[in-house]
Amino acid sequence: MISRTMQEQVKNSSIIRAMFEEGKRLAAIYGTENVYDFSLGNPSVESPAEVKKAILEVVNEEDAISIHGYMNNSGYEDVRAAIAKSINDKFSTSFTHNNIVMTVGAAGGLNVVFKTLLNPQDEVITFAPFFGEYRSYVKNYEGKLVVVAPNTVDFQPNLEELKDKITLNTKAVIINSPNNPTGVIYSEATIIKLSEILKEKQKEFGIEIYLISDEPYRELAYDHAEVPYLTKYYENTIVGYSFSKSLSLPGERIGYLVIPNQVTDHEDVIAAANIATRILGFVNAPSLFQRVIAKCLDAKVDLATYNRNRELLYNGLLSYGYECIKPEGAFYMFVKTPIEDDVEFCNLAKKKNILVVPGTSFSCPGYIRIAYCVAYETIEKALPGFKALIEEL
Ligand code: PLP
Repeated sequence: MISRTMQEQVKNSSIIRAMFEEGKRLAAIYGTENVYDFSLGNPSVESPAEVKKAILEVVNEEDAISIHGYMNNSGYEDVRAAIAKSINDKFSTSFTHNNIVMTVGAAGGLNVVFKTLLNPQDEVITFAPFFGEYRSYVKNYEGKLVVVAPNTVDFQPNLEELKDKITLNTKAVIINSPNNPTGVIYSEATIIKLSEILKEKQKEFGIEIYLISDEPYRELAYDHAEVPYLTKYYENTIVGYSFSKSLSLPGERIGYLVIPNQVTDHEDVIAAANIATRILGFVNAPSLFQRVIAKCLDAKVDLATYNRNRELLYNGLLSYGYECIKPEGAFYMFVKTPIEDDVEFCNLAKKKNILVVPGTSFSCPGYIRIAYCVAYETIEKALPGFKALIEEL
């Protein structure tokens, strides 16, 4: 009796989630400590101490009726003002609370953006490898996701192919940097070139192309790497931010959109995003956590822990002969499989109790994604298995 679209969704249900379930099954047989689950991007570093302090402060000191109540669908005005100020201080922008819409994580924010922008058959372009959920988010609003093939040399987006893929039906381009699954940060040179192409194509076709920057990993950048702030390069940019990874709060579902005044029809876009938040059934982003994150905008998770994992895994895999780009951000490593069939490689890894996700899930076969947001000891114990795998193949 379920709808045809949901029948399809259930059939194709995320391979990543399936891996997570497989991990639980193997853990029940072999014990949790003997299963090396690198399948899910669930933060392994605790939220900073400021978060717990802020929760207690809000609960103990603020008015209970107010903190648990409904508010403007875009979120509390003072929280949005604090976020705007924090962005302005960091990136020399000039946003106000009007430019900020609080969302139910990045996922909620992207759904609000697509609901706001897409007519049926509108095209949204993205670059492989990409977060597979984009397919569902675009399809939710009858849009069409157009995929640009991966550039496996350095995993910067393939901009020549982008030029060919832009048509009269292009409504948006979505990028994600630092990237899931590669950990690559799109360089400033890339962003400048991308912006130029979009400006040219807007003129050539007489259309508006929105650039959506999906940035849940913005704060997870190693070695002080710069992550360019896209609104400064291209006027039609909408930013989707999330505290899921930056403050290790994925279950709390809190994030925001930035819709600058420079965006075409910005007043309509902001009004539509506000209504989309309501009618998609979110109503508003979680109220308690809006108040909490407003007190934690300068707090940081312990990046050194992820960095230690990155170094151990990267150096280990390289020494065994694996090929991989060293991630500059996020907590994923995208590794070339020693055999062509990445799904088969994942099955072989499973036999050594190692759970990783095939690149096919990110539209980039021939690779695996290793989520290294795990205990350091998990990597130490899994490395001999990775070594045996490449030796046996
Ligand atoms: N976008 C990307 C690239 C992601 O990797 C994720 C989660 O892993 C999301 C969006 C969704 O994040 P959130 O938990 O904030 O909804």
